[in-house]
Amino acid sequence: MNKSLDRPVVGRFAPSPTGALHTGSLVAAVGSYLMAKRHGGLWLLRLDDLDTARQIPGMADDLMRTLELFGLQWDGEVACQSRHLREYQHFFELLQQAGAVYPCCCSRKEIARSASAPHLEDDGIPYAGTCRAGMKAAAAIRSWRLQVSEDNISFSDLRRGRFCQKLSTVSGDFILRRGDGEFAYQLAVVIDDYLAGVNQVTRGEDLLSSTPRQIYLQRLLGFTQPDYCHLPLVTGPDGSKLSKRNHLLSHQLGTVTGREQSVLLDVLRFLGLNPPLELAGCPCHTILQWGIINFTELLLPVQGGTLAI
Ligand code: GLU
Repeated sequence: MNKSLDRPVVGRFAPSPTGALHTGSLVAAVGSYLMAKRHGGLWLLRLDDLDTARQIPGMADDLMRTLELFGLQWDGEVACQSRHLREYQHFFELLQQAGAVYPCCCSRKEIARSASAPHLEDDGIPYAGTCRAGMKAAAAIRSWRLQVSEDNISFSDLRRGRFCQKLSTVSGDFILRRGDGEFAYQLAVVIDDYLAGVNQVTRGEDLLSSTPRQIYLQRLLGFTQPDYCHLPLVTGPDGSKLSKRNHLLSHQLGTVTGREQSVLLDVLRFLGLNPPLELAGCPCHTILQWGIINFTELLLPVQGGTLAI
């Protein structure tokens, strides 16, 4: 059961087909799977494929095959953001009608990247609100922004505890849509989770600072807020951001074959579990069953760290 909603848990994993699974995303996949399954819930798979420019052909298939190698079988049909454009349009218009959205002609790097989830390195200076009162005459629309309030947005993360953010000082009025029509990740993810009935979002801590923006949108749109659990991050040996290229787990590249079980056991240890030695050599399915029984967010480590596999 979802504690706050008193109904069956619906969790999800939402990779972007812009690269193969890597140790960091496998932690998010296993963590979200165990969180959902230990409550007897559903675990959905969604391909966050809005950022067409950064997608790699064949990658969606590779992600799915790799998850299957680890025994991570999702429930139901795979969802794709690219099939939700009409719904994004609908909710975008609702926000426009509510007077919460304005066109902006400012040129910034974030406009180019807005379709992708912002990870740690992307959080920058908040938008100053230059176009809030109107754009320069005859300027081209580069994006559509959501006007944010001065309120503090706070929520209780299942691992991190209370997290509070004042959007005006972190992101400022953030982008919902690009001038060329492409919808931004922040809007898309909120609508995708709503459409799928997701009530538990378990993902990497690099998205923690996006969560208040998403909660703000949920409140404006009248959606129920899911439970959130942000998982510790896999880092390089010096605590630096993981270089994804060096940690690829790919069915297609054969980088997992034959060591699925040991990789999975390492991920369970990373998530704070202590799997018994007898599990070594057991099929992934058995390892995951043990994980479902033993996982609790209370054991998740406070700090991330390396995960050499
Ligand atoms: N697709 C996003 C990513 O690649 C994750 C979205 C989410 O979990 O909210 O990081």
